Order: sequence, then C-alpha cells, then structure tokens
Amino acid sequence: MPLVMYDNTIPENWADKKVLVMGLGRFGGGVGACRFLAERGARVTVTDLASEDELTESVEQLRGLPITFHLGGHQENDFNNSDLIVVNPAVRRNSHWLKPAIKNNVPLTSEMNLFFRYCPAPIVGITGSNGKSTTTAMIAEVLKTDNRVWMGGNIGQGSLLAKVDRIQRDDIVVLELSSFQLYDLAQLERSPHVAVVTNIAPNHLDWHGTMDEYVRAKKNVFRFQTRDDYLVLSRKDGELIKWGKISKSRVIWFPSRDMERIELKMPGRHNQMNASAALAVGEIFGVKQETARDILRDFPGLPHRLEMVREIGGVRYYNDSISTTPESTIAAIEAFEENKVLILGGYDKKISFEHLVRKVVGSVEAVVLLGQVRDTLAELIEREKQSRNENLPTCEKADDFDHAVALVRKLAQPDMVVLLSPACASYDMFRNFQARGERFRQLVFKNRL
Ligand code: ADP
Repeated sequence: MPLVMYDNTIPENWADKKVLVMGLGRFGGGVGACRFLAERGARVTVTDLASEDELTESVEQLRGLPITFHLGGHQENDFNNSDLIVVNPAVRRNSHWLKPAIKNNVPLTSEMNLFFRYCPAPIVGITGSNGKSTTTAMIAEVLKTDNRVWMGGNIGQGSLLAKVDRIQRDDIVVLELSSFQLYDLAQLERSPHVAVVTNIAPNHLDWHGTMDEYVRAKKNVFRFQTRDDYLVLSRKDGELIKWGKISKSRVIWFPSRDMERIELKMPGRHNQMNASAALAVGEIFGVKQETARDILRDFPGLPHRLEMVREIGGVRYYNDSISTTPESTIAAIEAFEENKVLILGGYDKKISFEHLVRKVVGSVEAVVLLGQVRDTLAELIEREKQSRNENLPTCEKADDFDHAVALVRKLAQPDMVVLLSPACASYDMFRNFQARGERFRQLVFKNRL
C-alpha cells in the first residue's frame, strides 16, 4: 500500500503556528480541522460569515479548546497574519477575502488535504456526479467483512481528521469526495489508492464556472495515481471511457461484462450500477463475490434516496430529496414503471434542464413545480409538450413546499407513485436536503393538509 506523501504547505510541527480556519459551518464542517489543529498546539482562529447563534451546534463541539472565534463576519487581519489558512470546501477560491492571503503567499489548504496528509491507511475515494454516497456506503459495507473500515468525507459522518490518530495502517478508509474537495487535492498532489467514479454530468457549475473546470477538478481523483493504484470506472459513461485511456493506474470497468443482476432492496438500474462498483472494489481487496452479493442484498439504502415513506389510498410516496441534479431525477423516474406525480424544483445551480424536461414530458402524469427555477421549468415543459404534441404532464406551480405536497396529494390517483425528486438543491427553502426530506415525511404522515 502506498505511503502518505508530504505537502510542503502543511507544516511538520504545529506548535504555535497561527492557523485560520475559514468556514466553521452549521453542521460541523470546520470542527474536525479546528479540533485537530488545536490539539496539536496550533493557535487556531476560526472565522465564519454566519453568527454564533447560527453556528451554535458547531461552536458547542469546540467548547473547552483554546480557539479564537471570529464569527458573524471575517476580519481582514486574520487573512494576512496567518501561517496557513484551512478553507472550507464551499468557499470559492476566488473569494475576495482570500486575495490578500494569496498575494502574500499565505498557503491555503483544506480539511480533506490535512486528512490525506496524515492518514496512514489506504484510501478508497469515490466521486462522480450522482450516486457517490450510495456507492460509498455500499463499498464500506462490502469491505467491512474482512477489514476495519473508516467511512467519511462528503457523506457526512463527522470528521475523520479528528479521528486520524486512531486509524491504523492496515485499516481501510472509504471517502466520498466532492468536486470541491478534489479541486484542493491537486495542491497536495495526492489521489486515492483506489479511485471510483460513478459517472460525469454537469453539476456545481456555479462554483466551478465551466464544465471543463468541473471535469478538471474531478480528474484529480486519478491524476496523481501510480501503477500500483486502481481506477474503477463505469463503462457506460463516455467521459470516463476517455479517462480510462489516459490513466497510469490499473483500470477496472464496472459492471463487468457478464454481470448478473445484483439482488438489492433498492429500486432502479442506477443502483445496480452503484452495486457493481462496490463488487469491483470488493474484488480488489479480496472479498469474494458471493460474500459481497450477500452483503449488498441486505443493504437497506440511505435515507432520502428513493426512500419509501408511506402508502396511502393506494398511492406510494417516495422521498428522493437528495436528488439535486437532473440525472438523479431521471434515474428516479426510470426506477418506477407506475404512473408518477413528481415534485420538481428548488435552488438555481445554473445547470441545464433540457434533458430532464425531455424525460419528464411523456413519462410523468403530473408535475408540481417550485422554488427559484419554477417558472423556467414551467416554460421548458410547456414548450417541449407543444413541440412533441404531448398532453402530459399536467403542470401546477406551488407557492411553497407545503403547498407542493398538498397539490401532489390532490393529483395522485390509486396505484400511482408520488416522487419528491427535485433535481435541485434546497437552499432557497431549507437548510439542507435532509430538512426538505423530513418536511416531506411529516406532511405525508399528516392525514389532512
Ligand atoms: P451523491 O452522493 O452523488 O449525491 P447519492 O447516492 O446520494 O449520490 O444519490 C443521489 C441521487 O442520485 C438520488 O436521487 C439517487 O436516486 C440518484 N442516483 C444514485 N445513484 C445514481 C447513479 N449511479 N446514476 C444516476 N443517479 C443516481
């Protein structure tokens, strides 16, 4: 297994180093870095635009540690007077706050880079535009049979950096890696030992700027691999076929050519793909196919991903609140043969809905639109219906989320599936996709709206 390489921007000795953590985050995003650094004697300041009240959960987790909090706004001085800045992945690298630091050669790093720098165990890194979390969780389950496995990264199980001292060389770390985290990895010149890519489609273009930049960031997942490493790629994705041709590492394609159907609790062809990636990784680590298949058969799936909420009056309600891209909503639509009523829309990430709209028209009975992109979607659907001379779907516009659920309950007929699969992030209405999914569940369980 490869040893960790050293990033020269990350000091060997933290004692008395002045470190600024930019972005504490409401859900503990920066907590792991703050704790790790403070425990090693660094002089840590954490800064966030959000106020202490908004960040209570994260601040509570750091009580008792010698950390300076500059919350409710940034202070220019902090950016000039630090030895190192740990930047939250959500912060754009062209943020005007970072400009003076970059000009003064203050090195920037990220919590994930620190983790790669200190992790003694091999890392399996999973990325892609859709299916990362499901595939990450499946891989961790499969590898757990024979190994001690640590799962983390973007999947949000708390910071692994805070636990890095407990990780041993012969454990395995399974990390979900976002395009933002991968962008930063270039600086460290590290890629995971086993890199898994589910698919590539446009996403997060508001952060990356262009599709080329997004793909460039994703490619860091294998850019620094060597001949001893593995690149596990979907054979169904045109972009990934190109990656396979330029990779220096050993390329493994999934699903394998003679793959038999994998028995799963979760619906949809996309989950067959995710599971076949997990089988491929299992094989790399010597897990027998049969054992891996047994594990996958019992895998319950993750909450908010095509999760069955309830059946009322013959209508089945599915919560797919995690769907924040057109591709995942297309996958959700394809997962059901029944007639469907779809809740669609949310925050505008500036991605194209053209191909989603082509799918929605003709294969969904009714759609309830909401959020920032509501009117754009309504126009696109209307235009597509006219050009194809289709009557379906019936479109309704909702004023807010509760109204949307009230509308779908009216529209759904027995034997139909109601699908919350918004294809958009939730930030315009909720703090995150979990809150959106929970609200959906509550409303579906209410007998009257
Ligand atoms: P991610 O972590 O990439 O957001 P998740 O596993 O959380 O992916 O799934 C997010 C959404 O994408 C869900 O709506 C799920 O149904 C859908 N999805 C899962 N796997 C795939 C895939 N391989 N291709 C397309 N969509 C997928």
